[in-house]
Amino acid sequence: MTEISDIRNIGIIAHIDAGKTTTTERLLYYTDTIHKMGEVHDGNTTTDWMEQEKERGITITSATITCFWKNKQINIIDTPGHVDFTAEVERSLRVLDGAIGIFCAVGGVEPQSETVWHQADKYSVPRIAYINKMDRLGADFENVLEMIKNRLTPNATCIQLPIGKEDHLTGIIDLVEMRIAIFNTSDNPKNYEYAEIPENLLEVAKNAREVLIDKIADFDDELMLAFLEGDDISPSLIKRALRKGVIQNKIVPVLTGSSLKNFGVHLLLNAINDYLPSPTDIALPEVIDRTNNEKICLKTDPNAKFAALAFKVQIEKHTGKLVYIRVYSGTLKKGEIFYNQTNGKKERAIRLIQMQSNKKNDIDHARAGDIVALVGTKFTFTGDTITEENNPVLLSKMDFPESVISIAIEPKTKADQDDLSEALTRLEEEDPTFKVKQDKDTGQILITGMGELHLDIILDRLKREYNISVNQGNPQVTYKETITEICEVDEELRRELNNKITYGYVKLRLSPYDYENDPENHLQKKNKFINRVESDEIPASIIEAIKESAFNSCSDGPLLSGQIEGLQVELIDTAYHQGESNEVAYRVATGMAISKGLQKAGALILEPIMNVTIISPVDFIGDIIGDINVRRGRVIEIRTMGQKQEILAEIPLNEMFGYSTRIRSLSQGRAVFTMEFKKYEKIPLQLQQNLLKKIRGY
Ligand code: GDP
Ligand code: MG
Repeated sequence: MTEISDIRNIGIIAHIDAGKTTTTERLLYYTDTIHKMGEVHDGNTTTDWMEQEKERGITITSATITCFWKNKQINIIDTPGHVDFTAEVERSLRVLDGAIGIFCAVGGVEPQSETVWHQADKYSVPRIAYINKMDRLGADFENVLEMIKNRLTPNATCIQLPIGKEDHLTGIIDLVEMRIAIFNTSDNPKNYEYAEIPENLLEVAKNAREVLIDKIADFDDELMLAFLEGDDISPSLIKRALRKGVIQNKIVPVLTGSSLKNFGVHLLLNAINDYLPSPTDIALPEVIDRTNNEKICLKTDPNAKFAALAFKVQIEKHTGKLVYIRVYSGTLKKGEIFYNQTNGKKERAIRLIQMQSNKKNDIDHARAGDIVALVGTKFTFTGDTITEENNPVLLSKMDFPESVISIAIEPKTKADQDDLSEALTRLEEEDPTFKVKQDKDTGQILITGMGELHLDIILDRLKREYNISVNQGNPQVTYKETITEICEVDEELRRELNNKITYGYVKLRLSPYDYENDPENHLQKKNKFINRVESDEIPASIIEAIKESAFNSCSDGPLLSGQIEGLQVELIDTAYHQGESNEVAYRVATGMAISKGLQKAGALILEPIMNVTIISPVDFIGDIIGDINVRRGRVIEIRTMGQKQEILAEIPLNEMFGYSTRIRSLSQGRAVFTMEFKKYEKIPLQLQQNLLKKIRGY
């Protein structure tokens, strides 16, 4: 059993194609977790194990994999690079203790690496950087290092230097050990050879080591003293100081290599052990003590009370539902009962497993610091806090990006109808950014996700895993709605049912509301409900029912059935009839009042605006910007990257369909772009009218 201080929970973050999967495959091979190395281009790597991933050569689902290197247990979470899957990255970052940022020695800091890097900043994840692909034509270590310093962090500090590049990559200088690792030309990937630094490189190495020591001296008194006295400084002293700097998030050691050519990854493994934190080294997330609503800190202690976060649900044909949990404190034994603090349910930990990619090892308990999967649970979902009895603590909810693209679908055969809704429910359970909605007018099923690729994969899975074929409409933007005017509405409901009167009455005031400026609410990003009725006569359960119904009614806007955002609902009057008043009646009255009110309150459509990053040779920049303007876009910034320029722009998603083709023709195929959701914004009134005409036909 590994000591907790010997565990490393790490993630690998990077732009698509930087080499995450290739590097992970090496990490697994060198640690004897797998015995044959797969390649991305052959479609047989360990972490890209879903069919769709193999075909497309991209990583979609982050699978945790456990491996061992020199007595340390490394739990790797492979995170996807495509922006459609930022939810996966986000949830991985939430439960990791450390990360490796991988960069391509040619492409450098690409847009998606910048995005994930800043996501990791948000969670203060300690990191090391690895500049991969030094064997590629055009590799430029210095340039990428500068980009990392300028764009990501001034704390980036070389602990290695490449010797040569491209076809002439011959080794790596290890500035900590002061030796070189020799480029592996043998057939055996595990041939790790070292040598003394040759005379002609000694000066360069010494200078670089000096810079390194200067940068980390502050973190260790002993090293500082030795440095000031001009003494020889041992590798172990440097490692100790580096480790402290990394864990405090003040140093990012920079390593290099070529994963494809099996070079440098063994040093990366050493660096994971040496510099990235164990669960005991980091501050755990704050929790709310539910008995008094105060914030408290958990401790990574297997003997403390059990608390864990469920961060991912995965449904598999044979095993059923897997719920991945990160244990923060205490121990959960197989067979024990646990409590779900988020939804109040309790259930049993029937089976606990540790994942080795798609292989599963049964274990009999999970301790503080562990990442494991529960099998056979029914009521545990992504974002839930689970604990032992009498430990009423709540971890903060997980934040997921908005789902902005929808497609209407219908089963090809009537027989598939039931199977389809069951399959969609399962997929929805797995993926917090995938949503299913039935149009109240047409009965059509609308599936919503992060992007076209995301929904493509979902449809593909429906076919392969569930054997359901569907007809699909064109991808469309998911609009939201808001209101611009204040209005008051009331609704009274009095019905006779089975010779009994049911009664409900509400009077509501609807007004525009900006949660961004409401400190109480801006984290939840919710609409607001205020009860202004002061009366002891009305039972709390009725007020609660009105509130719930008010929130539920916000899912259907008056214009396009979009979600209503930025709405405040005040209950300004109600009445209570002893013996007649009934919760259901108040719910119905509230729903009716809200739909009536929304009609009168100057509804406006909100459209998703995307952050778009375009990288192009300078020659085409003018045309590309002209085209952005045509698309109602705004150029935010233009940056120069060597021979190319990078345009950062905000463009409505509605104007982005077909953009890949357009940008190819504008740049003779040489510009690339990525986009991700930024915010919802009010649509111009003229466009709103056109849009309504187009969608509703009037
Ligand atoms: P991911 O998208 O970050 O998972 O990247 P992959 O591991 O799928 O790699 C993308 C492509 O780059 C694949 O074709 C790899 O074979 C290739 N690749 C990965 N590492 C290296 C490297 O060190 N050198 C070269 N030349 N190619 C590499
Ligand atoms: Mg990959």
